[in-house]
Amino acid sequence: MAVPIIKKSADAASANLSDYLSDYQRDCLDTDFTLEPDDSTGGKPTLKHLPDGGLNICFQALDSHLTTPVADKLALRWISKNDEILEYSYRDLCQLTSRFASVLHRLGLPPGARIFSLSGRRPELYIAALGTLKAGCVFTPLFSAFGPEPIRSRMEIGEAQVLLTTHSLYQKKVKAWCHELPHLQAILLIDGESEPDSGCYRLSDLMQQADPAFPCVSTQPEEMALLHFTSGTTGKPKGVIHVHQAVAYHQLSAYWALDLKPSDIYWCTADPGWVTGTSYGIIAPLCLGVTMIIDEAEFDVERWYHILQHHQVTVWYTAPTAIRMLMKAGAAICRNYDLSALRFIASVGEPLNPEAVLWSQTTLPIPFHDNWWQTETGGIMIANTASQDIKPGSMGRPLPGIEAAILGQNDDGSRSVITTPMEVGELALKPGWPSMFRGYLHQEDKYRSCFSNGWYMSGDLAMCDADGYFWFVGRKDDLIKSSGHLIGPFEVESALMEHEAVAEVGVIGKPDPVAGEIVKAFVTLKTGFEPDEGLQKTLLGFARKRLGAAVAPKEIVFRRSLPKTRSGKIMRRLLKARELGLPEGDTSTLECDEQ
Ligand code: ATP
Ligand code: MG
Repeated sequence: MAVPIIKKSADAASANLSDYLSDYQRDCLDTDFTLEPDDSTGGKPTLKHLPDGGLNICFQALDSHLTTPVADKLALRWISKNDEILEYSYRDLCQLTSRFASVLHRLGLPPGARIFSLSGRRPELYIAALGTLKAGCVFTPLFSAFGPEPIRSRMEIGEAQVLLTTHSLYQKKVKAWCHELPHLQAILLIDGESEPDSGCYRLSDLMQQADPAFPCVSTQPEEMALLHFTSGTTGKPKGVIHVHQAVAYHQLSAYWALDLKPSDIYWCTADPGWVTGTSYGIIAPLCLGVTMIIDEAEFDVERWYHILQHHQVTVWYTAPTAIRMLMKAGAAICRNYDLSALRFIASVGEPLNPEAVLWSQTTLPIPFHDNWWQTETGGIMIANTASQDIKPGSMGRPLPGIEAAILGQNDDGSRSVITTPMEVGELALKPGWPSMFRGYLHQEDKYRSCFSNGWYMSGDLAMCDADGYFWFVGRKDDLIKSSGHLIGPFEVESALMEHEAVAEVGVIGKPDPVAGEIVKAFVTLKTGFEPDEGLQKTLLGFARKRLGAAVAPKEIVFRRSLPKTRSGKIMRRLLKARELGLPEGDTSTLECDEQ
């Protein structure tokens, strides 16, 4: 299907980079911290240090607002699972994070200490994240739904010294083994009436005694700030190191790619256990002085539409898996809600099928803007921005200052840039932006192996068209080789998504004696469709018509759900391992698993 380009209005298109930069400097930055646009790099940000030479993410996100009108603005509106609402101004958060930093200090934790959280999306999690940074310590958020083993292994790798968690998570998942961790000094309990064990403290008691004016520790730009684990889609999750100066890119990229302005009411649905929920769910929006909405509850179609309507969300950042669930529920539900406040919506984490962009354009009715990045890049690299026409199915273009290219492998193993439009190769980036990762913890060789000929190799395959738009093909590991053709799973999945019965698809290469591999698709269906042989045949024919016999799946099977990571990514490697009867490998981030 030829997908139409979504044209942006002349107004939006006229918002060019220099407008952005001057606006940004006027609205969002204090005088000690300026971006110096350099035309030769297309506006790549450089940092000026704070007067004392230090730089701290928490200062940029909170303390720096105290001398401005933003101080008394609503920073965070939290909605509990039971619809209780708590609100915090920038000044409130500043004081609470000071208290948390002071708690760590009084417990004897020096700057650099590793603070982990294991909690749902509660206000304390957000306060702890920024309070940890204020104290100069390193923060690692874990998904609260992880089982004991993934929690333990991450805390071991990260040498956790403090764990912030709830009473019940502690009892269920941590108590049995935490005394075996050599570095762990304290467990801070968000709730619960009594101190269950030695080494456990009630956070509220400590916060009461703490200093509400604890000053931000003067960390250096290159000091470690965050340790984030990757999603584990392709294998064992890696501990990714980020430093304080990443904040320069967090805020600038949010301004460019999410179009965030101080007047926005912004909802990022990602959990901080995944990098999106930290870079763009905590740091960037606060730096930019916006009001954030945080919902404690899990995905629910009606709840989500209600939040968008009731809280007048203007900018919404979510993931393809959620969008596909909204599509699955049907457009009629959406029409019961007034979403007119929404002015910009974006998506990340997985390929966004063109069908989903077109659906949102007619239903919401504004289009989702896809963007691409990784835990390793710390921030958005390639995006469909507010001012740029959208080619549905494309991830957009690199943000200013980001040099992206498609690299091919030469016969001698070296790599070189592919300049021919729409030729498949590995997506690579020129290192140098502030939020670039500084290493995989305790995996120096693995870190080094990510670089080749001066490029950071992303591990994803993509193509670039003549207009500089990038198109996702698949993970390097997921590429299918069938009868001499190289087939990216995304193309096949997107074609099947065009059929009205299909809710989700995961595609793998299944070994075949003749073709090498054949394409096999695992499909979940929308409500009202029966997984019978008739539909199977229809879908096989439908795909063949759209893709041609060489690329179309030879086998289609139905599933009630597909295996996914906690961050919502379809785990194709698991579909494949199960198909071949091989060991499943690391499944610590597996969320949804009805086979
Ligand atoms: P692991 O590295 O442990 O296997 P992961 O790569 O899924 O897990 P993340 O860093 O959370 O961990 O995800 C980054 C990856 O997500 C990218 O490399 C890419 O494969 C995929 N991704 C992110 N955004 C997009 C997008 N817009 N389109 C297609 N794929 C995307
Ligand atoms: Mg990865």
